[in-house]
Amino acid sequence: MGFSKYIKDFISLIYPQLCLACGQGLVTSENCICISCLYKLPYTNYHLQPDNKVMKQFWGRVDVLAATAFLYFKKGSSVQKLMHQLKYHNQQEVGIVLGKLYGKNLMDVDVYSNADVIVPVPLHKTRFKKRGYNQSEQFALGLAEAMDIKVDTSILLRQYASETQVNKSRYNRYTNMADVFVASYQNNYKKIILVDDTITTGATLEACTIALQKAGYNQINIVGIAFTE
Ligand SMILES: [Zn+2]
Repeated sequence: MGFSKYIKDFISLIYPQLCLACGQGLVTSENCICISCLYKLPYTNYHLQPDNKVMKQFWGRVDVLAATAFLYFKKGSSVQKLMHQLKYHNQQEVGIVLGKLYGKNLMDVDVYSNADVIVPVPLHKTRFKKRGYNQSEQFALGLAEAMDIKVDTSILLRQYASETQVNKSRYNRYTNMADVFVASYQNNYKKIILVDDTITTGATLEACTIALQKAGYNQINIVGIAFTE
């Protein structure tokens, strides 16, 4: 115990671990994000507000039980840095760290804590191969650990890559997204937590929800890491 801490401290002398939000050196009790950045992160607390802005995004589009995101996403913010590290710099661990933190919060809210399974928004297999991991799945794994609910990546698949959607209008994005995902009914899951990284228009989550509902799942909660207001 004491010895492994000694080894860790010694290794961090040679390869200092840096906070992925501010770049300051981390101490051994910190993982990916320093205490000071953790304290200052823009928490939404949306899980405590049933009619929050994430939930409102889905009104009139798809029926979900509840929806929330852990953090506010703003350009140039520490949250943008963390998301960038998670998606493009191989820092999948930060997804797990954020998932564990938010999972502890979600345990206080029945609609989330009594779910049967956590399902991350899938990447297309080509993208998955290129990145080596799915950032939403990393967050899901952190949630799963804190909430003691399992992750299942086999029920929802991404059939098309839909790489070009960024330049399209919202309407086109929706029509483009509608058939991107396909789900299969398995294991009698009743209540699903569907997990994404950053929620912007909600189009991806809407398409996933429609696919899950078509397959027979009708109790769906949405949880994102970050929300762009
Ligand atoms: Zn920091």
